[in-house]
Amino acid sequence: GSTIGIMGGGQLGRMLSLAAAQLGYRCHIFAPEATSPGGEVSAATTSADFTDLAALSAFAEACDVVTYEFENVPVAPLAAIADKVPLRPSPKALEIAQSRIDEKRFVSDLGGRAAPYGFAETEGDVAAAIAVSGIPAIIKSNRMGYDGKGQARVMPGDDPVARWHEAGGVPAIIEGFVEFDAEFSVILARGPDGDIRFWDSAQNEHVAGILDLSRVPASAAITAQVPAARALAAKVAQALDYVGVLTLEFFATKDGPVFNEMAPRVHNSGHWTIEGAFTSQFENHIRAICGLPLGETALACHSAQMRNLIGEDAHQWPELLGDPANHLHLYGKHRAVPGRKMGHVTRISLEPGASQP
Ligand code: ATP
Ligand code: MG
Ligand code: MG
Repeated sequence: GSTIGIMGGGQLGRMLSLAAAQLGYRCHIFAPEATSPGGEVSAATTSADFTDLAALSAFAEACDVVTYEFENVPVAPLAAIADKVPLRPSPKALEIAQSRIDEKRFVSDLGGRAAPYGFAETEGDVAAAIAVSGIPAIIKSNRMGYDGKGQARVMPGDDPVARWHEAGGVPAIIEGFVEFDAEFSVILARGPDGDIRFWDSAQNEHVAGILDLSRVPASAAITAQVPAARALAAKVAQALDYVGVLTLEFFATKDGPVFNEMAPRVHNSGHWTIEGAFTSQFENHIRAICGLPLGETALACHSAQMRNLIGEDAHQWPELLGDPANHLHLYGKHRAVPGRKMGHVTRISLEPGASQP
C-alpha cells in the first residue's frame, strides 16, 4: 500500500491516521515530539524538528503524498521536499493561514466580510489600529495563536498598548469585537479534480476561547447564512487550487456572516462527522489527497453534538462510557494540562424530531 506522510502528531493526525488505515494506507508522522497522539497509531514516525532538512528529505522519500495536521509547520523548509513528493494542500494555503493579516486580506479580496481590523507590528502602531477596530477590540498575535492563546481584549477604559503587550508584544491584528448571534464553521473537502463537498455547518460554542460544543443541525439563524458562507469558502478553495479539507469559521450576525479565520486542515468543529455523517472529514481528507473520489458528506443522523474534553474533563471517561449512547474519543495524551484538548464525546440522534441530544 501507499504511505501518507503527516506533518504534525496531534489528535488531528491521529484521527487522519485511523481513517487512512481503514482505506488500506499506512501513515508516517513527522513531529518534533518523541511520542505523539498521531505517532502512537501510525506505522512510522520521524521525531525531528520541522526545520531539519535531512530528516524532511528522508521523510519525503518514504512517503507517496504529504499532508499537514498542524497549521504552523514552517513553510520555507517544505521547499526541500516539494520536488520529491506531492504536498496537499499546497504550501501556499499553509502560508496564508499562518498569518492572520494575510488570511484576512486574502479572504477580503475574494469578497469576504471580516470585522474591521488594523495591524500593529510595534506598540507605536496600536493607536492607529484601534482607530480602525474601535473598542471593544480583540488583539490577536499574527502568528502561532490557537485556542484563544496570544489574545487580549481591549475594553473601554483599558490601555490598548498594555493589552498589546499582554497579547505577546508581537505583531498582532487588532479587530473590532463582533456582536454575533452565534458561531458556525463551513467545512469542505475538495479533490484534485475540483469536486467540492460540504458538510452541514455546525453551530459552535466556545468557553474561554476554546471550542466547547459543536452541534448539527445549527439554528435557523445560522442555516440562513450558510449559503453565502459556503460560496465564500468555495471561492477560497478554488483560488488556492486547494486539495483536502478546508475550514472557515464565521460569526452569524444580523447583517450576515462575518469571516473570522480559516484552517487549512480538518477541524475540531468537524469531529462529529465521524459518527454523524456518511463520510467523516478525516476520511474525505485522505480520499482527496490520494486522488480518490470523495464520499457522501450528508448527515447520517437527525442531530449530533460533540463536546470537547478539556484538561481534567477527560477523567470523566468512566462515567461517559456508562452511557452507551456516548461515542468516546480519547487522544492518548498522558498529561491533563488545563486547557489542553484531551478527547471528545459525540452523541447522535437517529430519531426524527427528537430534541437535540
Ligand atoms: P482556534 O484556532 O482554536 O479556533 P484561535 O486562537 O485562532 O482559535 P479565534 O478563532 O480567532 O482564535 O478566536 C477564538 C474565539 O474567540 C472565537 O471563536 C470567538 O468566540 C471569539 N472571538 C474571536 N474574535 C472575535 C471577534 N472579533 N469578536 C467577537 N468574538 C471573537
Ligand atoms: Mg485559529
Ligand atoms: Mg478559531
